[in-house]
Parts: sequence; C-alpha cells; structure tokens
Amino acid sequence: QRTPLIAGNWKMNLDHLQAIAFVQKLAWNLKDAKHDFAAVEVAVFPPFTDLRSVQTLVSADKLPVVFGAQDVSAHDSGAFTGEISGAFLAQLECTYVLIGHSERRTLHGENDEEVAAKVTAAVKHGLVPIICVGETAADLELHGPSAVPVAQLRTALSGIDSAADIVVAYEPVWAIGSGQAATPEQAEQVAAQLRLVLSETLGQDVADKTRILYGGSVKGVNIAGYMREPNVDGALVGGASLDIDEFSSIVRFQK
Ligand code: 13P
Repeated sequence: QRTPLIAGNWKMNLDHLQAIAFVQKLAWNLKDAKHDFAAVEVAVFPPFTDLRSVQTLVSADKLPVVFGAQDVSAHDSGAFTGEISGAFLAQLECTYVLIGHSERRTLHGENDEEVAAKVTAAVKHGLVPIICVGETAADLELHGPSAVPVAQLRTALSGIDSAADIVVAYEPVWAIGSGQAATPEQAEQVAAQLRLVLSETLGQDVADKTRILYGGSVKGVNIAGYMREPNVDGALVGGASLDIDEFSSIVRFQK
C-alpha cells in the first residue's frame, strides 16, 4: 500500500537555468512515455539556489513532479550564517528535505544528534524528512550490515512522534558513487531491520506506511531488483539522476 518514490539527489550539480530545462524535459519525457505519476512518485532535490525556479516551473506548468532541498537548519531563524530554515523551504512548496546524507555526515561532521534536531525542525515546518542512514565499509566489517544504520535511525527519530510523516533512505556509504551497488538481498536485509526500528519507536502503523528507499549506485539496469523486495519502496538516486533518460528508466522500472 506504499506508493513507490523515486528521488533524484542532484548534489552540487545543475544551476537554476539548467534546473529549469532539466525538470521540464524530465516531466515531458515521462508524460510522453505515459508514466503514471500516481503509481510512482517522482521527486528531485536540486541545490538551494534552484528551488525558487523549480517551484515556479512546477506550479506554472502543473508538472506532476515534487521537489525538496538537500539539507535544512535545525533552527527556525536567527544568527546562523549560511543556514536555510525549514520555514523558508516550506514557503517554497518543498515537499521533502534530505537529512543526514552521508556526505553531510562525513564532509561536514554532522552527528546523529544534529540529524535528529534537523528531523524535528523539518517536521515542525511541515516538510517530510528523508532520513538518510548507512554504514561505511569499515562499519560493515566491524559491526555487520545493520548495526550502524539502525543506531542512526533510532537517534534520528528521537524528537518526533507517530503523527510525523517521514521517509527513510538506506544508503550504504560504500555503495555511493562507487558503481558497487548493494545487492537487492543486502538492501532488503537492512530495510527490514529499519522497519523494525520504526515499529518499535513509532508504532506498527507508522512502520507499515513509511517508505524505505535504497540508495547507492542505482541505475536503470538494477532498479527492478530492489523494487521486488518487500521492504524497499523506492530509490534515492545520485549520479544517474542527472541523466534524463537514465533517471526516466529508473522511474519506469518494471518489477
Ligand atoms: P549514487 O547514485 O551516485 O551512488 O549516489 C547515491 C546518493 O548518494 C544519493 O543520495
């Protein structure tokens, strides 16, 4: 009963002019191919500076594509140079916001507590957080596949209750941008553990309705395998989301 979600994380790529052309072409491509947008939700995550342009385009042309930001501040407003409030993102009609992406964690030192504070802030402002968790290759060797993502998710959920609408993305760090994707079985194993955490912390209803995405070297050729797994409800796509044909083929996966 969970609607699959295919999300494109552009990372620091495409300026606001390129974003307009890209989103327009993507929506046209999918419409031409008779994509059923109600059956598989399509979301893009452009850089902050593109969001106003994407919002204007999506609302003017009534494109059936949703969008979100790649990060959000834990604070509402104030002396936080360089930060972006969830209130501003909600005002720009962002549906989602990525929180705790591994690049934020490793390159910007975000810890689990900061991730939790951002999740709480996102929910407060009416955004749906896509909570990113995942283990490094070293974690995998030391602790096995699910210990680190499970602990990350537990902390990330600590400030919200069962009324919150959330999405979880399992992205093993070793699979991101490496071309070395997790197998569908590996993704399913961790996704099942993450669903257990949802059920233990927020209740069975939340666990049943929350979408869990897999991310890490997802492409047109491997998406179907993930989508066949019972606990994987979509994908968070990096590199392949920047190629319209490739991203379209992921959106139009056949199980
Ligand atoms: P790739 O799809 O390039 O491996 O990136 C995954 C990712 O980090 C999405 O957030």
